[in-house]
Amino acid sequence: MLYSRRIPVSIYDSPVFHSQVLLLMTEMSSTHPIPPDFPGKLWLYTNFDCNLRCSYCVAKSSPTASRRALGKENARRLVDEAMELGFNEVLFTGGEPFILDDIYEMLSYSAERVRTTVLTNGMLLRGGRLERLAEIASPNLQVQVSLDGARPEEHDPYRGDGSWVKTVEGIWLLLERGFHVRLSTTETPVNRGRLEAICDFHYSLGIPEEDHFVRPLAKRGFSEQGLELSMTNLVPEITATIDGIFWHPLSTDADMQISQSLFPLAEAIHCVQEQLEAIATTGQVTLTKFT
Ligand code: SF4
Repeated sequence: MLYSRRIPVSIYDSPVFHSQVLLLMTEMSSTHPIPPDFPGKLWLYTNFDCNLRCSYCVAKSSPTASRRALGKENARRLVDEAMELGFNEVLFTGGEPFILDDIYEMLSYSAERVRTTVLTNGMLLRGGRLERLAEIASPNLQVQVSLDGARPEEHDPYRGDGSWVKTVEGIWLLLERGFHVRLSTTETPVNRGRLEAICDFHYSLGIPEEDHFVRPLAKRGFSEQGLELSMTNLVPEITATIDGIFWHPLSTDADMQISQSLFPLAEAIHCVQEQLEAIATTGQVTLTKFT
C-alpha cells in the first residue's frame, strides 16, 4: 500500500533525477542532515503480516508472512530521532498495521509530535479497533486507505474477492468518525482506463483531490510487472523496518538497504548522502558493506 493528482511518487527519469541528486547533495551537511528540499518523510514498517495477500504487494505481505514487528520502543526512538533531524512526517505502513495491538500507542506517540499517517487496507477498522484509533483524536493523524477502483471489478482482481466492499465500508466508518482520510491507488492494467471514475468516487465521499494519490505498479515483491526500481531512479525516502534502514518504502529488498542498524538515524542519512554522491558522480550505486 502506498501514494487526481497523478503519480506524485518520487520517481524521476534520469536527467531530472540527477539534477535532484545534485541539489540534495548541495544542501546536505553533517550538521543538518535533512536539507530543506529532502523528502522529510520517515517511513516505519510496523510489521509484515497482513489480512490480505495482494498479488502486487511490494512487501510480500500475507496472512502467513512472519510478523517481523518493529516494536513500539524502536518506533518511539525513531520518531524522537526523526524530530531531532528535522523530519516533518512519519508514516506507518506494513503489512497491515492494525493487526498489531500496540499500533495505537505508536500512532499516539507520533501524532503528539509530528504529522502522522497510517497506511491501511481499511478492512479491520471496525468495533474495538476503530474505537481505540478514535481515542487518539489528534489533528496530526491521517489515515491513508488503499483503494484501486470505484467498483470491485478494478480492486478485487489484485486484492482478493470481497475486499473492495470491506474497504469501502471501512472508509465510510472512518469518515463518519471524522478522520482525515486519504486514498491511495495503485495503477494497474485493470484500472488504468477507469482512474477518472475513482476520482468521481472519492469526490462523492467528500475526499478532495489533494488527498488522493496514484502510484504505478512496481516490479518488486510479489509483482512480476511494473516499473523497475532502484536507488538510481528513486529519490530516497528513509524507511525503517526491523531489519534496518532502506532507501524507499517501495522496496525492502536487500539491494535497497542502506544500513542494518536502526540507530542512530543520522548515520543512515549519512549513508544516503554517500550513495547520492556516488550516483551523481558515476551514475551507479556503490556496493554496500555491512561491517
Ligand atoms: S493490503 Fe497492502 S500490505 Fe497487505 S498484502 Fe495488500 S499491498 Fe500488501
